[in-house]
Amino acid sequence: MKIIDVRTIPLRGATDDHGWPGGTDPNVQYNTLVEVLTDEGLSGLGSCYTTRPLVEAALALLNPLLVGQHALEPERLTENMRQTMFWLGRGGAVEHTISGLDIALWDLLGKALHQPLGRLLGGMYRDRIRPYASILFDEPPRLREKLQVQLARGFRAIKMGWRPFGRVSRKLDEELIKTARDTVGDDIELMVDAGGSEQFWPHGVCWAKETARMLGDYGVVWFEEALRPDDVDGFRELRAASPVLVATGEVLTRRQAFQPFITTRAVDIIQPDVTKCGGLSEARRLAWLAYDHGVLLVPHGWNTAVGVAADLALTAAMPVARWIEFQTGVPYIEEIITEPFRLEADGTLRVPTGPGLGITLNPEAVERYSR
Ligand SMILES: [Mg+2]
Repeated sequence: MKIIDVRTIPLRGATDDHGWPGGTDPNVQYNTLVEVLTDEGLSGLGSCYTTRPLVEAALALLNPLLVGQHALEPERLTENMRQTMFWLGRGGAVEHTISGLDIALWDLLGKALHQPLGRLLGGMYRDRIRPYASILFDEPPRLREKLQVQLARGFRAIKMGWRPFGRVSRKLDEELIKTARDTVGDDIELMVDAGGSEQFWPHGVCWAKETARMLGDYGVVWFEEALRPDDVDGFRELRAASPVLVATGEVLTRRQAFQPFITTRAVDIIQPDVTKCGGLSEARRLAWLAYDHGVLLVPHGWNTAVGVAADLALTAAMPVARWIEFQTGVPYIEEIITEPFRLEADGTLRVPTGPGLGITLNPEAVERYSR
């Protein structure tokens, strides 16, 4: 079975507010699906966290490394693309594109072998996992409403992130966390994401430590991106003082960028995004490196249904895994597949058991969001 081409599908028209300045334009396009096509009619589906023009530009470089290759060798093809791009795209949009291609190649392998990806990634340690509902912070009354929506849907864990937390005052930060804990009660897991990868993040380790202490008072599970994304030393210092778990990693690409965070135990939780970091091949290497250092991998999932399915397969195949991220109310996650993800009564999601990623695109929904 040989690769003959790659098709791209941009998603736009219903882009959710992502918390960045100007983040409320529904037509802004950040997620691009890729479909790797073969000469036997079988295809694999992936998702890249970048725009279609950037994916197309990267494919101009990468296609010659794919077309004509044996289609069922995801790790070799992905590593070959990465190594060959040592001058033209070591990270950035090229790596984001490689990520989607790698997911598509794994999906293809699973379909060809009629096996779910979790099995091919090493074996199914679990058949379900707890997703945490991922929402943006808002002023207290609106935050309360948003939390109630997630509780009504059956989520047992909720993460709140980005503005206005850390951007107005310590007083408001604590008011937000108090509002959240009062709203959800003691039995729901709450996580907090400062969003320190936002441009010109102003806070350093002192702010992060003091805020971590406040979060500890409200039983928060983890504190995410409290510092700028590359500040390994800062994260190590924060982790040594924090009463809550320290997490980061969503913007990093390539395993080499993650290694110092893991090997020096600068964080408790590492959060690669499979649609950016290098795909499932890279995320699996990271997951095992993290496991061997007592660091937990929790996939970042502010992307698409393809990303969620890949995260379910990845976490199914790790001996220790506790959560995946689930951005709620987002059509690119909840509408573009024929059998949308459904929460079980205990607030978990089942790992798909169909071949490959175990999902099928809904052509009408894809048409609606790719015009
Ligand atoms: Mg985050």
